[in-house]
Formats: sequence, C-alpha cells, structure tokens
Amino acid sequence: MTQGLIDIGANLLSEQFDADRDAVLTRAQIEGLEHIIITASNLATVSRIVDFIEANRYRKDWPILHATAGIHPHEAAEAMPGFETTIADWLRHERVVSAGEAGLDYHRNFSPREAQRRVFAAQIELARTSRMPLFVHDRDSGGETLELLERGAINPAQVVIHCFTGSADELDRYLAAGFLIGITGWVCDRRRGETLRSLVPRIPPERLLIETDAPYLLPHDLPKTRRPSNGRRNEPATLGHIAATLAQLLQMEPSTLIAQTRANALRFFNLSDARSVA
Ligand SMILES: [Zn+2]
Repeated sequence: MTQGLIDIGANLLSEQFDADRDAVLTRAQIEGLEHIIITASNLATVSRIVDFIEANRYRKDWPILHATAGIHPHEAAEAMPGFETTIADWLRHERVVSAGEAGLDYHRNFSPREAQRRVFAAQIELARTSRMPLFVHDRDSGGETLELLERGAINPAQVVIHCFTGSADELDRYLAAGFLIGITGWVCDRRRGETLRSLVPRIPPERLLIETDAPYLLPHDLPKTRRPSNGRRNEPATLGHIAATLAQLLQMEPSTLIAQTRANALRFFNLSDARSVA
C-alpha cells in the first residue's frame, strides 16, 4: 500500500468540497496521504483554512494539514493596504508553512499586471525576511516571474514553482536558478502534457515536489473505476496515481519517487505533525 505521500498544493477550501470535505480527507488518508498543504489564494481564505485545520486538529483519520498564506495573482488587484503586515503575521502561525500562492498570471490577467507585480514583489520580500518557503504560480509571464524572484534576492532553496507546465527553456532557467519544481497531474495527460512529460527527467530528484492542485487538474488517465462520479473534480487521493505516472517517466520505482519527494517536502516546508503539539 502507498504511504508517505505529501500533496504540496490542494485548494481544499474550494466550495467544490463543501458537500463532502470530510469524506475527501478520509479517502486521502486511506490512499496514503500523510500531509496536505492547503493553498490560500487571498487573506480571507487563509483565516478559513487555519480555522478549519484548528477545528479538526484531533482527526487521526485525516492527513496532517498545513496552510499557505498569501495572495494569488488573480486576486492582486483586491489586495488591501497593509496586506503585507497581515501576511507577515500569518507566517508566524504554527499551521502556516509557506508564503503564497504568489506570482504572475499573464494568461488570464484577472488583475492588472502592475498590481500583480507589486503584490508578488511584496510577498517575495516577506518570504525572504521571514525565511519561509514561497509557493509560486507562474503562467505565461515571459520570464518576469524569474526576474522578480532574482531581483528580490530570495534564497532559491526557498522557492517552489508550483504546477510547472512551461517550456524547456523556462524549466532550464528555473533549474539554473536553484528552485524546486512542483508537478501536478498535468503530467498524466499524453496530449496536453506532452512537453512536460518529455521535460521531467531534467529535474534533479531532490528538487521535485508533487501536488494535485485539487479540485483542478484531474489526472487525464485515471482508471475508470477511480474516476469521481461527479465528473471532473480532482482530490488529493489521486496523488498516488500522479506519483506512479511520474515515476514511470523518470524510470524510478514509485516507492523511491514517493520517498524522495516526501523527504524533499518535509525539508522544504519544515513539516511536523502539528497534531502532537495540541
Ligand atoms: Zn497556481
């Protein structure tokens, strides 16, 4: 049985989980999830995530839950004055293990680019000064994400580029910079994920992290028997399948890949079993 999986990015407070969040988490533990880092996209979500984790701190039938604290590029225009102080406070909370999700998204441009840059730069600075990991979202920024990270002089070992789906050139630059790379179920899609599938062997195993990005990115090739009855929603329980697919592409044993990514995640996010600190 699979054990020791760590999902470094799941949007578990999404309303898509409102009806059955408990069952989703129970299933995640049954499927071998040990830790889940719940991704925040704005400051209201951070409080909701932390409240949820605290309210359920004694659940032994769930994976160990952690939170990120930050503002997604889509929400950058909504950032209130003083958001930096609020994030800095959250980064000291024992359930919060990372800054983010932060970055640039020039694919959708839900927030003006100038706002995205300003809010991202502030979060790079917060991660740098607090020495916390930074969970980075980059979509079609044409190199600006890397530029801002380098200008911010953050320690590269504190940065993970989550849900990497970029080009060979982008991957090479991120690897040269020293960042970690988060791989999702995108790698399970033979058509849309073709480039990614060919690129993953370039990533040194010690810089690899795995994530579902649930409820998004349901692995394309999930066996019929394991597909959710309600259509396209993804959940942390699919992480073992993603790990197996990735292991195959890397010509590694799945258990070796899981042990390696587990060690990477424990070290990178400095994870502990917060349930025992109750
Ligand atoms: Zn993202």
